[in-house]
Amino acid sequence: MDYELVCTSCGTKAADPEFRCRKCNSVLEVKYDYSMVRLDNGFRKQRITHKKYAKFFPVKGKLFDMGEGGTTLKKIKLKDHILFLKLEAENPTGSFKDRGSTIDITKALELGFGGVCCASTGNMGLSIATYARKAGLKCTIFISSDANDEKKGKIRKAGATLCNVKGRFNTALLSAEKFAKENDVFLCGDYHYRKEGQKSIIMEIVEQMEYRVPDHLFIQVGNATLLAATYKALLEFKMLRLIKKLPRIIAVQAAGCDPLVRAYEKGKPIGYVEPRTYADAIAVGYPTFGFEGITALDGTNGIAISVKDKEIEDARMELYDKYGIKSEPGGAVGYAGFLKLYGEEPSIFRDKKVAVIITGNNESWPKSL
Ligand SMILES: [Zn+2]
Repeated sequence: MDYELVCTSCGTKAADPEFRCRKCNSVLEVKYDYSMVRLDNGFRKQRITHKKYAKFFPVKGKLFDMGEGGTTLKKIKLKDHILFLKLEAENPTGSFKDRGSTIDITKALELGFGGVCCASTGNMGLSIATYARKAGLKCTIFISSDANDEKKGKIRKAGATLCNVKGRFNTALLSAEKFAKENDVFLCGDYHYRKEGQKSIIMEIVEQMEYRVPDHLFIQVGNATLLAATYKALLEFKMLRLIKKLPRIIAVQAAGCDPLVRAYEKGKPIGYVEPRTYADAIAVGYPTFGFEGITALDGTNGIAISVKDKEIEDARMELYDKYGIKSEPGGAVGYAGFLKLYGEEPSIFRDKKVAVIITGNNESWPKSL
């Protein structure tokens, strides 16, 4: 679809392949001309896959894809509510990151780059490395030296150059941005392009629920890209009259790394928090899409909550014991949030539809605290 890039903060227009506003350094947003969107009658009948939603992505030609999306939405009828679990570990590299990688790699190819780079806590690096290899692009991944060793090994195996950065994810992020500028490679990662690709999870959920939305939707938050993307997708579907209302979004962070929860509770801008959680996939001290994440909560009457590592591990075990679903710690954070709220106030879930995104499973299982 035709689009323009606009700064989320000062409104300055940008052009491909800029990834931050040249005036104020804020993140950019992809804006489409929705009046040009035409969904033909067959749209609803098409098989549900990520590439089905190409009209909602900022790509000009064919989408580079590896068969991602179309993941299971497991429906579980419980005594007082219905639970829907979206199983994102079914994607080609084991996490929801593959949806965003299709856009990153498509744009890199479209714009004629010979290489890509990105900062990652692990899963995104593995996804980008795998997609770049398939696309014939050189790939450099910046990762914290204390990130998960198992994921580092998988990234190396996928053929990427791995740069260990002394410091946490946000330090790796600065390294990746610098490297992209100095080496003329395409910067992948949690910016506006990837955000567009992450929209397809909720689009699939809506279709799998026959164009109804859940009453409550639990989303784990690291960089808040999925949270911001989900809200944008819901607004797009609403604008196109595919849905009538929005779900209430509950953002869930690990208690040891909860900058969004703190900002939300105090009504203040997001501040950096030194990550201290075993859920490495969401160990992000300063979320890139934090401001947009808060906007998503404000726009859906949502809330932000945190869960302790022990609660995450219990949720992870329960997913396996009750439903046979394997998840890495970061992937089970949304479910841990649901269990916590349900335990505190079950009445708010009575006769409701509750959806939880289980984001990935890229660590040996089980791993105990
Ligand atoms: Zn700006």
